Amino acid sequence: MSLPAPLFGMTADGFASAVDGLPGGRERALRVYRDAWRALGLPDGLEACWRDAVDAAVPAPAEVHTEDGPAGTTAKCRLRLADGSTIEMVSIPVAGGQSSTLCVSTQVGCRQACAFCETGRQGLHRQLTPAEIAGQWVAARRLGWQPRNLVFMGMGEPLDNTENLIAALQALTDPRGPDLARERFTVCTAGLPAGLERLAALGWRRLGLSISLNAADDATRDRLMPRNRQTPLAALQAALAAYPKRRNFALGVNWCLLPGINDSRADVRRLAAFCAPLGRVMVNVIPYNPGRQPLTRAPEACEVERFIGWLQEEGLPVRCRRPRGRSIMAACGQLGGPSAPPGS
Ligand code: SF4
Repeated sequence: MSLPAPLFGMTADGFASAVDGLPGGRERALRVYRDAWRALGLPDGLEACWRDAVDAAVPAPAEVHTEDGPAGTTAKCRLRLADGSTIEMVSIPVAGGQSSTLCVSTQVGCRQACAFCETGRQGLHRQLTPAEIAGQWVAARRLGWQPRNLVFMGMGEPLDNTENLIAALQALTDPRGPDLARERFTVCTAGLPAGLERLAALGWRRLGLSISLNAADDATRDRLMPRNRQTPLAALQAALAAYPKRRNFALGVNWCLLPGINDSRADVRRLAAFCAPLGRVMVNVIPYNPGRQPLTRAPEACEVERFIGWLQEEGLPVRCRRPRGRSIMAACGQLGGPSAPPGS
């Protein structure tokens, strides 16, 4: 007997083929698919043969922690998977709390071992399936969260799980399912050229892309992001320059600001040189959130302002991601550890 079809990780067509032969045929399958996405679970009254043939499981909320701030409430949810593994997703308020961005995980753990990241200390346990990735949106909606945008910036490196990421994106954007617009998604990567090429081949120009750069000289980036030893900055720059961009696309360049490590005037000059051939960029400055084994301290507000001023002198558009969720270990680089900050 074949395994039940994982509905929330499939397109409507894929689902209809997987349940071929059930009563009602393709038309019924498409209706079940649409109704399940609307109801965030299998519709009531489905016959046993359908229930046996469909797996509508999504990651199950185990704990939710919230932090109220001037911009709204940040919430982190630890989710339990069918095999007992746990992952985390975070809801980040935007527009004064009117809507939110959902930060989604793509792997249990991560093998990239970035020095500033809690998840990187775990190593990779396993890849998330398409249903476990897309199912985080379902789980968030079931919690009453109303995510407007989704960023693949939770636990894991999305382009180390590219096929399952793409399958999840195809499910979430399926017009016969949730029908989310492509521009609502941003893939955030440490920079894996094979994954970038695969994403480019999709031809989804409206998909957002951001690169976790953090250093624009190889010695510092080797230390912060060991992946850089396989793909040094020149190769990464070439892969990003080749990535097809739409007219109003801006490549996100994320810079976790680490005092004494990557916050000098010279760092900004190198960053500007790195970005020069990449077309429009938006530098996202993320003040470092110390985890359990801090690399350095969090930057002072005046240090962040000084760094932003230097970026502006270089003509780089810049946004600063004010720290949110630090008290619940939900801020960038803090996922996968305990939910209380060190020392609390
Ligand atoms: S920052 Fe991202 S890519 Fe690096 S170890 Fe953490 S989860 Fe992995």
